[in-house]
Amino acid sequence: MTKVIQVTRVPKDTGPAAWNAILEAATPYPQLDGDITADWVIVGGGFTGLAAARRLSQIASGDKIIVLEACGLAEGPAGRNSGFMIDLPHDLNSETYAGAADEDLKQIRLNRAAIDFTAQLAKDFGMSQQVFMGCGKVTGAASSRGEKHIQSYLQHIKALQEDYRLLDGAEMKALTGIDFYTQGLYTPGAAMIQPAAFIRQAARGLSKTVSIYENSPVIEMQLGADHLLKTPKGKVRTKNIILAVNGHIQSFGYFNKKLLHAFTYASMTRPLTPEEVERLGGEANWGVLPADPMGTTVRRVSNLMGSGDRLTVRNHFTLNQSLEVSQAQIQSAAKSHDKAFRARFPMLDTVPMEYRWGGRLCLSLNSVPAFGELEERVYSAACQNGLGTVKGTLSGMMAADLAANVDSAILREYMAYDPPSRLPPEPFLSVGANATMRWKEWLAGSEL
Ligand SMILES: Cc1cc2nc3c(=O)[nH]c(=O)nc-3n(C[C@H](O)[C@H](O)[C@H](O)COP(=O)(O)OP(=O)(O)OC[C@H]3O[C@@H](n4cnc5c(N)ncnc54)[C@H](O)[C@@H]3O)c2cc1C
Repeated sequence: MTKVIQVTRVPKDTGPAAWNAILEAATPYPQLDGDITADWVIVGGGFTGLAAARRLSQIASGDKIIVLEACGLAEGPAGRNSGFMIDLPHDLNSETYAGAADEDLKQIRLNRAAIDFTAQLAKDFGMSQQVFMGCGKVTGAASSRGEKHIQSYLQHIKALQEDYRLLDGAEMKALTGIDFYTQGLYTPGAAMIQPAAFIRQAARGLSKTVSIYENSPVIEMQLGADHLLKTPKGKVRTKNIILAVNGHIQSFGYFNKKLLHAFTYASMTRPLTPEEVERLGGEANWGVLPADPMGTTVRRVSNLMGSGDRLTVRNHFTLNQSLEVSQAQIQSAAKSHDKAFRARFPMLDTVPMEYRWGGRLCLSLNSVPAFGELEERVYSAACQNGLGTVKGTLSGMMAADLAANVDSAILREYMAYDPPSRLPPEPFLSVGANATMRWKEWLAGSEL
């Protein structure tokens, strides 16, 4: 019996994927055209899809592996995120990022396995320090409220026996060049990436063993003894499918009423002039996460592949169960970005933003992945709970292991997560969640 699944929505991203736009143009991968066969088809070319492709090329070498990406690589959330690969608990649903101790220890083990996997990939594919940097992470506070958040998080990581270093205002200024932060918390296990450069270079390295197709959205699946995937111009017949589409797993008909489609927003300046770089001071590459989860993330990147020295601010969340945001929502977030930028960088107050964008996150109420075998030889690696650089990488690795029957302690630990819990009904969900987020943003005060 063949089961036919019509894909109800293909991704639509609003605003540019700035991290990709600032790089020199990439040589595109072909669009799928005609009928082909493969041993493995991975749907989605973000962190999850490329991690699954990499893992499969290691454990099923010689098999024909295909990645089908609906848009261009690094044009979706993979080229829109702030590039923090965080090893410690980073639960966006929580007041302080942290959760229960046992769960957090498990989370740290799993996150570190994903970061190690990425570090090895970066090494094997010759990525520079600006593309993947195992530099740890800094969380910054600018008010007594922010400092309280740092103190409470600190108690938690002390209990977990994790290394840390508290930074004072002068050390924060030496890093960033600005007087804004009064305190910082450095933890060593995280990494930072230029997300679009990372995706492009990972894909280039993988393309020796994996066939990648861009602008090839899967619009229909026929599931049977052999599965058939259809794109607008082509078809692939395969035994095994890994759906690495994050929240769009719902567009394939799975996990309905179980996933939260949150969006967050960012703005990036034009390249700073040498005189502005001088005026700013501080280090050339840095990132600061907000002590309050509703606060503003800031990154400075130095020139990479023609990108110039730039600053990026990210804040504001909305819940959009339609999986799309409007240009008006980006404009509304822009006001908050400009305010955050002016508060932090008064010496650069005439520097305009060149790019503004929004991007999808997929969360579950109980902060678990939407993972597993959905149908015979059809696997889901979705719902990365806002930390897809790490949790997506992990779920891609785990989906490949599960599908290829590779048993490991880490897979068993990963499989032990509960399934995503059911959401409250609409309109209460969207109205309630958006109102709560606005209230928490207001509470964040100068941390925003
Ligand atoms: C502004 C912003 C800042 C963020 N900062 C961070 C951060 O610092 N650290 C962090 O870890 N995370 C961050 N995130 C979240 C992170 O970007 C996501 O969690 C991550 O991209 C999810 O990875 P993924 O590969 O699972 O999904 P995606 O990156 O969404 O990739 C899925 C891919 O599937 C494709 N697809 C969907 N449907 C189809 C189809 N029908 N056919 C073919 N392809 C399809 C999509 O086009 C997409 O490219 C941020 C996100 C935003 C928007």
